[in-house]
Amino acid sequence: MIDPRDGAPEDLLTFARGLGVGDHAVRRLLTAIVGRGIDDRGEWGRSFQVPRRLSDHFADLPRLRLDRVVTSATDGFQKLRFLTSDNLALETVIIPLHKPGAVSLCLSSQIGCVMGCVFCATARMTARRNLSTWEIVDQWVQARDLARQGGRRATGAVFMGMGEPFLNYDRVIAAAEILRCPYAGQTAAAGITISTVGLVPEIDRFTNEGHRFRLSISLGAATDEKRQRLVPVAARTNVAEVMAAARRHALSRRDRVMLSYVCISGENVGEDDALALGRLIGDTPVRLDLIDVTDPTGHFLPPSDAEMSAFRDALTRHLGQPVVRRYSGGKDIQAACGTLAGLV
Ligand code: SF4
Repeated sequence: MIDPRDGAPEDLLTFARGLGVGDHAVRRLLTAIVGRGIDDRGEWGRSFQVPRRLSDHFADLPRLRLDRVVTSATDGFQKLRFLTSDNLALETVIIPLHKPGAVSLCLSSQIGCVMGCVFCATARMTARRNLSTWEIVDQWVQARDLARQGGRRATGAVFMGMGEPFLNYDRVIAAAEILRCPYAGQTAAAGITISTVGLVPEIDRFTNEGHRFRLSISLGAATDEKRQRLVPVAARTNVAEVMAAARRHALSRRDRVMLSYVCISGENVGEDDALALGRLIGDTPVRLDLIDVTDPTGHFLPPSDAEMSAFRDALTRHLGQPVVRRYSGGKDIQAACGTLAGLV
């Protein structure tokens, strides 16, 4: 291990024990690096009593270069663009929450994405690579610190930025473990949401490993025919199999599984779509989050108020489970869901 942010805290503890270093020193190191954002090794020793025989194993910690910050004039969303050491751009979003002063941080897990969802700007980028664990954690640290400067507190994190998190499973889970660690990110597991467009083996792995992070499964549509059009790569697995994995997750956690559904005018918000959703989901306990599509090309449009209202009525009849309309903000700065492409 050459970077203490490049594995789960448990990995760092194992590494340190191999050096004969006690767990307390590891906790202090995590507090310094992640909790306080200090990357000066001298400071780790002076202020946090991290022994040299641990800190000497770590090279100077690389950082992402914060290249640009833009703030929405309409709703206060902020988008941060970072550059990696190989000069690739990635984006992170600070999302204001209803509770005054609280924000959630939307993190990227890959640069580009091979899933090819037709309404998504990330899919139109060249898919470059997975982010390392430290690159994910550093997004969080720098966005948290920027929020702090404005007197705000990061209370949650969502893996809904650039990329399909479950295509970078190990690093995403390790990063989430660092965020939830009480000595590092100090974020409750229930405040960390990992999103997937429906990779069944990884959903099952996540379920079987017993993580307490929240899972959000994005359906795209309720029928295979529509999914093939909207989320073509994910649709290689039929939607009934995705739903079966969602059901296994819900039953294992004894909780509702969160499904998200990008709403597109004239495409997937009709009476027939509500009926298909009701049939697909059946009695699996879910919470359905409806998100208006934001497509910078203007090809896909969000439903009108009347269309959305009729769709919600139809869902009440055919699904009869909690439905939430999730706000996807920062539209004026291309920070909304599906608009991150490293361009602003
Ligand atoms: S919506 Fe998510 S999974 Fe689909 S292409 Fe965009 S980043 Fe990838």
